[in-house]
Amino acid sequence: MSPTYDVIVIGLGGMGSAAAHHLSAGGARVLGLEKFGPVHNRGSSHGGSRITRQSYFEDPAYVPLLLRAYELYDDLHRATGREIAIRSGGVMVGHPGSLAVSGSLQSARQWDLPHELLDAKELRRRFPTFTPRDDEVALYERKAGLLRPEHTVAAHLQLATRQGADLHFEEPMTRWEPYRDGVRVHTAENTYTAGQLVVCPGAWAPQLLTDLGVPFTIERQVMYWFQPKNGVEPFLPGNHPIYIWEDSQGAQVYGFPAIDGPALGAKVAFFSKGEVTTPETIDRTVYDHEVQDMADHMSRCIPDLPGTFLNAATCMYSSTPDENFVIARHPAHPDSVTVACGFSGHGFKFVPVVGEILADLALTGTTEHPIGLFDPARLAAAPAPA
Ligand SMILES: Cc1cc2nc3c(=O)[nH]c(=O)nc-3n(C[C@H](O)[C@H](O)[C@H](O)COP(=O)(O)OP(=O)(O)OC[C@H]3O[C@@H](n4cnc5c(N)ncnc54)[C@H](O)[C@@H]3O)c2cc1C
Repeated sequence: MSPTYDVIVIGLGGMGSAAAHHLSAGGARVLGLEKFGPVHNRGSSHGGSRITRQSYFEDPAYVPLLLRAYELYDDLHRATGREIAIRSGGVMVGHPGSLAVSGSLQSARQWDLPHELLDAKELRRRFPTFTPRDDEVALYERKAGLLRPEHTVAAHLQLATRQGADLHFEEPMTRWEPYRDGVRVHTAENTYTAGQLVVCPGAWAPQLLTDLGVPFTIERQVMYWFQPKNGVEPFLPGNHPIYIWEDSQGAQVYGFPAIDGPALGAKVAFFSKGEVTTPETIDRTVYDHEVQDMADHMSRCIPDLPGTFLNAATCMYSSTPDENFVIARHPAHPDSVTVACGFSGHGFKFVPVVGEILADLALTGTTEHPIGLFDPARLAAAPAPA
């Protein structure tokens, strides 16, 4: 007889590990299946740091979820003792009309979030590594900072295991089908049955969720670490905020304090300079011209940052056409399947609240969290004309 579970979670990366934790915390019998080992670097949840912030320029509708995510990240730290979040403060820099500045300001005002507006002179005074143009401004948010993605995933896996979840690594799902009132899931080794399936496939969404009707784009993105010139001191946490800096063309770079000690430099990346790829074909080599491009770009904004190039790594975004997430009951299998995908390069700060939402949806069919923005129906291909 195959083992029977209440819920099977596919993918134990950022979202799936959080779902396994929240489901098992509620007493559900959970099986988690992961293609690779625990806390791996072949998906979207590695690289040592992720930005978190509350004045969300993408859409104020995300703010209630961020407020809950902050609480849950604190709970995760308390429950495991791991270093999960570093609240370094953060600046969103650009022309006053840029999305990074004006969108952040809109969210901050709408939700009454603590923030300050800094002109170029004040930005230079507070954070001397920054060299804004005179017409650039910044929204400073003291609650912004960074999250440790690997520690977060490890903490959720640890709690899920402690709560009795069965987590199987190096055991990818090969296929699934509806079975009785639930689902049957196949791997090379075994067949499992459950009442509910929760699919958190990251960059594998185009393969695992073909019938969702969402056109995902999988993108290769590069993270760069530089040893600053003129000393690392101004870049150490406590002295340096996280930042998102939008240029006059709307392109954004973002970066972090030097959180891994003086020898390991500070990380910086373009938000979206990726090429379309797939998890099977992604080019993991980072080329000299890419490093040079990053160094040239930063020499205008933070000229001390691109001293010595230390390291680079690739990662994948799974983007939807409007860059909003997909979190919902599967429209083709609304009684038994829940999906969380299309995080479009900005999902990590939501990981624990997504886990909570997935547990709600799988166990009760609904959630009190506001997830209307994430309905896949908004992206479903228009029916072909008759
Ligand atoms: C370079 C980069 C920078 C980013 N910066 C930020 C940031 O600053 N702030 C922020 O909020 N977000 C950021 N993000 C986005 C964020 O990291 C992602 O949205 C988030 O990690 C996605 O989590 P996930 O669970 O969807 O994907 P993953 O963590 O990749 O998990 C998906 C899992 O599914 C598994 N899987 C796939 N197929 C199968 C199968 N058949 N069977 C079993 N398992 C399977 C995979 O192995 C993988 O472990 C960034 C992403 C990248 C790449």
